[in-house]
Amino acid sequence: MDLRDSPEEAAFRKEVVEVIEKEAPKIERGTRIEETLARSGEWFKKLAERGWNAPAWPKEYGGAGMSVMQQFIFNEEMAIHRAPRPIHLIIGLGMAGPTIIVHGTEEQKKKWLPGMLAGTDIWCQGYSEPEAGSDLASLRTRAVKDGDDYVLNGQKIWTTIAHVAKWMICLARTDPDAPKHRGITYFVVDMKTPGIEVRPLTNMVGTHEFNEVFFDNVRVPKENVIGEENRGWYAGVTTLDFERSSVGSAIGMKQEVEEMIDYAREHADEGTSTLKTNPMLRYELADRMVEAEVGGMLSYRIASLQGRGLIPNYEASSLKFYSAELHQRIAHTQLKVLGTYGQLERGCDLAPHRGRWCFTYLRSVGYTIEAGTSEIQRNIVATRGLGLPRD
Ligand SMILES: Cc1cc2nc3c(=O)[nH]c(=O)nc-3n(C[C@H](O)[C@H](O)[C@H](O)COP(=O)(O)OP(=O)(O)OC[C@H]3O[C@@H](n4cnc5c(N)ncnc54)[C@H](O)[C@@H]3O)c2cc1C
Repeated sequence: MDLRDSPEEAAFRKEVVEVIEKEAPKIERGTRIEETLARSGEWFKKLAERGWNAPAWPKEYGGAGMSVMQQFIFNEEMAIHRAPRPIHLIIGLGMAGPTIIVHGTEEQKKKWLPGMLAGTDIWCQGYSEPEAGSDLASLRTRAVKDGDDYVLNGQKIWTTIAHVAKWMICLARTDPDAPKHRGITYFVVDMKTPGIEVRPLTNMVGTHEFNEVFFDNVRVPKENVIGEENRGWYAGVTTLDFERSSVGSAIGMKQEVEEMIDYAREHADEGTSTLKTNPMLRYELADRMVEAEVGGMLSYRIASLQGRGLIPNYEASSLKFYSAELHQRIAHTQLKVLGTYGQLERGCDLAPHRGRWCFTYLRSVGYTIEAGTSEIQRNIVATRGLGLPRD
């Protein structure tokens, strides 16, 4: 694999860098997400005008129609320059939108894609249930046909940003007698529909990201079914494929490690760095740097496969669990660098990095759970990658 840019790729990279340097707001790391989003409104409009908030979508649907390598370059430069991205739109732009482009009708595309692109509509993902996470096909939320509607009853859990979402992509059981993967239908649910109750769940960092969502006789028009009745599993898996094939994080992790090394060195004579008092720390820092480089190579591999028209499968799973676990190891090392100062949380004046490392340490616990646990990703690598038997 040739890691150098072709002349066209180099020109595209230059264009992306110029736009970012001219237009993107400079926001210090550690700034809270709410503040970052509030200060990025004009920048997000500029991204939308260029189709850059949906780089992979075809131009006919308002995206940028970028090739796989262009997307890779775009993601890389956005990460290198720490340009804010509209992460509150990620479920719409990165998951629901691409699924509707693949499985939806023209009317559905016209109805839902513009609001995602304009940034007016926030989407959430109603997949997980109390008894259905890793084994998602066991989901029990029922949808019963009644005239031109389906009537939904049941419960979703861990539904990120459901409290601000306008729409939900939702899997529900339409045929309880069919084999479990074949009785599921994929719906788009208007979150304002009577009968929906959203209850907040506060995570261990103390923030309200996810929720429980209850359906009590919620009527969903049949026009909101994506694909065919009882074939929702296949559209649902398309959404998961889009969710897992992210390539931006490797750069972010390398930056984290570089920043941590700089910090440890620069503060070595102060109490806020343990570099001189913990001789083993330098080995750990070196390990993190090597691992971050490996993460970068794994993401190049995914981009290279996609660039050749292949669909990454177990390779995407390896990258998902490798990145999630590396992120956790980086967070552990960051707290070791800070020593006792690492316990100071956001809001405390003495907290190094405004408490960002402490926050990430706690928040990173979820990284190996969200979007499919590390065990499930390893099962995929074992069976599809290594050809091992299922049990
Ligand atoms: C921060 C965060 C945000 C989330 N956001 C959303 C969201 O927006 N929408 C949504 O629908 N869901 C969301 N989820 C839910 C997430 O997808 C599930 O938590 C995840 O799929 C695991 O399911 P579970 O929690 O039911 O755990 P379980 O499936 O009960 O797993 C429990 C443990 O058993 C292990 N395990 C289970 N099956 C196997 C197996 N076959 N082999 C080996 N080990 C196994 C798991 O790895 C895990 O360690 C979110 C989760 C988190 C943490």
